[in-house]
Amino acid sequence: MPRKKEAAIQPKVGFVSLGCPKALVDSEQILTRLRAEGYDIVPDYEGADLVVVNTCGFIDAAVAESLDAIGEALTENGRVIVTGCLGAKEDVVLAAHPQVLAVTGPHATEQVMQEVHRHLPKPHDPFEDLVPPQGIKLTPRHYAYLKISEGCNHRCTFCIIPSMRGDLVSRPISDVMREAENLVAAGVKELLVVSQDTSAYGVDVKYRTGFWGGKPVKTRLLELAKALGELGIWVRLHYVYPYPSVDDLIPLMAEGKILPYLDVPFQHASPRILRLMKRPASAENVLARVRAWRAVCPELTIRSTFITGFPGETEADFEKLLQFLEEAQLDRVGAFAYSPVEGAAANQLPDPVPEALREERRQRLMELQEDISTQRLERKIGREIEVLIEEVDEEGAIARSQADAPEIDGLVHIPDGEHLEVGEFARVRVTDCDVHDLYAEAIEA
Ligand code: SF4
Repeated sequence: MPRKKEAAIQPKVGFVSLGCPKALVDSEQILTRLRAEGYDIVPDYEGADLVVVNTCGFIDAAVAESLDAIGEALTENGRVIVTGCLGAKEDVVLAAHPQVLAVTGPHATEQVMQEVHRHLPKPHDPFEDLVPPQGIKLTPRHYAYLKISEGCNHRCTFCIIPSMRGDLVSRPISDVMREAENLVAAGVKELLVVSQDTSAYGVDVKYRTGFWGGKPVKTRLLELAKALGELGIWVRLHYVYPYPSVDDLIPLMAEGKILPYLDVPFQHASPRILRLMKRPASAENVLARVRAWRAVCPELTIRSTFITGFPGETEADFEKLLQFLEEAQLDRVGAFAYSPVEGAAANQLPDPVPEALREERRQRLMELQEDISTQRLERKIGREIEVLIEEVDEEGAIARSQADAPEIDGLVHIPDGEHLEVGEFARVRVTDCDVHDLYAEAIEA
């Protein structure tokens, strides 16, 4: 597509962001840099001088979605720079779409900016104050993802993220805290801490001491959680593995410093399958750990994900997984039938499980979990809880409780909440529930 004449005055970039919260943070960093340099971000292909597509390459369905998105951007605009996880497989992108301007990998803000400069020169005299201190956020104003590290030191056999994103690199704690403070100052009410392995924060820098608020603070999850807990907002931890060190976080949750919520991707419960998966902390006695956490913090919500039909999974392994779910009584569970990701070591394992059986086991797992989740929610009926308001219209309000992460967990429906304000906290009384959601009535302040 020929570049528009006004590009020399204010070049315009379109942006498509696919993938997980970590990719979303990458998108926000690129958008922040673009705005800082004076580029205009436009919401449609037509008005853009070029389009950046941030892709996902985690499973085959995500690869297909990313290739479709690149194709659409090429058809609608014609000038496309590809970045993100699928960008790590340049050959796949170029085989499908040889006409793209450039391909960069994940977490590659600098390379994306270089390519943007090459194909759409940056305007003169950019004003630094075009960008608010908190950067450009793609999430609603009241919550934001806070990425604390990049890459991963583990080598789970079903995952190709380390080959795309490299080993763990932790951000300095002073940078993380500065970003958190800027976000809070900009009105953010909830920070969602994300990374590939949140419990490993600081391992790569040997828990180096940094500074925040004039005080020395170690680059370690416990110290980070304590510091974030001082900001007076909701702090939610994602992608935490059940290492013994996580035990130290639970008292902070019981004291209300950070949310009583842990997103722990267990993936399986059969020790044999966990070994085949090469999962971190797979040797830990997870059930005992979950019980100990709940003894310290009874309000704790545990979310997890599981894979069914991993190569070599027998009916007995799967039964162990179901038994674990019965005993662990997790609050929120997502399950995926095993999907052989191209390049993953697990594809070489013997005894693959037929696709239909992988899916059948996923459905059996979810049926069991639906009963457990419903029973966990029923215990909240009659209680008064704090919620964060997400949407309001004439039919009432929709909110999230401390037990609900955005996008992945449930919601709280408040039919008489039309007077409530989006982005504000409110107190409600729970009146009913279904499998995932709560229903509640507003409590007048
Ligand atoms: S912990 Fe495992 S699944 Fe998670 S990013 Fe690292 S290698 Fe992949």
